[in-house]
Amino acid sequence: MNSLIWFRQDLRLADNKAFYQACSDIRSRNTATVVEAKTATVTEANAASTAQLRAAYIVTPKQWLAHDVGAMQIDFIERHVNLLGENLAKLGIELDVLTCDDFDGVDELLLAYIAQHDIKAIYASSELEHNERQRDSRLHALLESKSVSFNLFEQHCAITPGSVTNLSGDMYKVFTPFSKQWRAKAMSESFAPLPVPEVMHGCEQGSQVAYEPVRFELGDSYIERVSSEQWSAGEEAASERLNQFIEGHISQYSAKRDIPAIDGTSSLSPYLALGVLSPRQCIAAVLFYYPDALVNETSVCKTWINELIWREFYRHLLAAFPRLSKNANFNVLGDGIQWRNDADEFAAWCEGRTGYPIVDAAMRQLNQTGWMHNRLRMIVASFLTKHLLVDWRWGERYFRQKLIDGDLAANNGGWQWSAGTGCDAQPYFRVFNPYLQSEKFDPQAIFIKRFVPELNNVAPKLLHKPPSGGGYLGNTHSKSESQAKYNEPRVIDMFADVNVSASANMSDTSGVNASGEQAQAVCYPSPIVEHSFARTRAIEVLAALKKS
Ligand code: FAD
Repeated sequence: MNSLIWFRQDLRLADNKAFYQACSDIRSRNTATVVEAKTATVTEANAASTAQLRAAYIVTPKQWLAHDVGAMQIDFIERHVNLLGENLAKLGIELDVLTCDDFDGVDELLLAYIAQHDIKAIYASSELEHNERQRDSRLHALLESKSVSFNLFEQHCAITPGSVTNLSGDMYKVFTPFSKQWRAKAMSESFAPLPVPEVMHGCEQGSQVAYEPVRFELGDSYIERVSSEQWSAGEEAASERLNQFIEGHISQYSAKRDIPAIDGTSSLSPYLALGVLSPRQCIAAVLFYYPDALVNETSVCKTWINELIWREFYRHLLAAFPRLSKNANFNVLGDGIQWRNDADEFAAWCEGRTGYPIVDAAMRQLNQTGWMHNRLRMIVASFLTKHLLVDWRWGERYFRQKLIDGDLAANNGGWQWSAGTGCDAQPYFRVFNPYLQSEKFDPQAIFIKRFVPELNNVAPKLLHKPPSGGGYLGNTHSKSESQAKYNEPRVIDMFADVNVSASANMSDTSGVNASGEQAQAVCYPSPIVEHSFARTRAIEVLAALKKS
């Protein structure tokens, strides 16, 4: 009569309802067994031997590949699973890391496992994604027929999906009323996190067992592994980062969160995405330092809590509208958009060579670190979907492949918001101007130069405006005409910052300014498309989103 704690997107021991309940149930069962054994005959006592709690994590490489889970995120998962294994071993619980090539094969694998280990109860966190929900309802029926209880705990959100609704009981389709209702509900919620269960009284568990770190068996699917070492792993690291952020930075968050050159945000998304940290732990930590954070309208924490509510909003949407898991347009009018989907332009965007410095710096940050600042995610998503008219699903997929914090709900929500096809739709005629964005949020081009070093010697103000001369070969709606020579070096007048009037006379072809000085050619592409041209083109095409 053993139990299983099945870890999924909840790679933590603290504040884990499933794990907590599994420990608590097995403790009560064993305590009862000990009492019974005192009054039983030797034969009866042997029969009622103590129950064990086992732990499992299932690696599903084919499913990861099919869903473009990023190689860096997989590495991060592997590190966390191993840390979990070590921490469980200290509690006397063995973690089995199982591999199931085929997602649908999980049922069979689990049935074989429970038979092998005489498991009568399974505990796990529920999941919001469509396929996962279907798998769980299938498993429910299967396990019931074998008299095995399957106990699921909702803990991916601080407030349960389905419980923040409008007066008709429906999910909100725009953020602001959702957030108001969420806050009202939060005031009566307790966010006190659950502790890590201590020793497993009443059974042999509680004494340490050994754990050998594993390397995931990914088969031939992944050619390369990408290290996530630049991110510290573990619950302790996550909670240290959380506390440092709240103690030292949250009061400045509102002022600094849009500046990509500084660490003005918490960088907790990789931990929240894997469930190394829970949203309840985040809110509890805020309330520890700022007890009135949820009720005080002027609290310094308001903006940060708002971001956590955005996370909740997208998850509640995913639960309410399962089609989002399949990447359908939230706004069905989006089905009528004629995307250009030019593969060469998409490749230039992915590789950070669009000729728009802020876009390229952002994409290179993503490619090099597996993370991108939120302001930049909005800029590059707008650029891809509006300037280049590439279907948001292409960008969403590329993000998933690269991000360490890849998260279906937030990624889908962010992309659809940017494309104008989502909830709280950004009006289709609002097209971010990358030059104005970089001028406002990276005025000294500190961030741009960090990731596009070839622009190091160029005066910042030149990076916030289009180059004179243009050469915008992408200025066309026709794919055949849009073979831009993206890699052509662009001549930037290095003297323009010093002598503005002279730069006005800059000759693009000769690279000689009015003072007769030779400008240096900077090996950086010409812009892929002209901003004002792209803006007009996008508005025409995205007018499909206009309600008739
Ligand atoms: P902070 O600013 O410190 O915010 C705290 C936490 O709140 C974050 O860790 C995150 O969990 C949540 N959060 C913050 N902003 C948002 C938001 N706009 N939407 C949903 N949750 C939010 N976030 C992901 O976690 N995974 C993704 O795959 C993802 N893809 C995105 C794609 C696009 C196109 C856009 C515009 C946004 C995306 N985001 C995604 C949201 C956001 O950019 C990141 O959560 C944020 O940059 C993470 O940095 P941080 O931890 O420092 O956030």
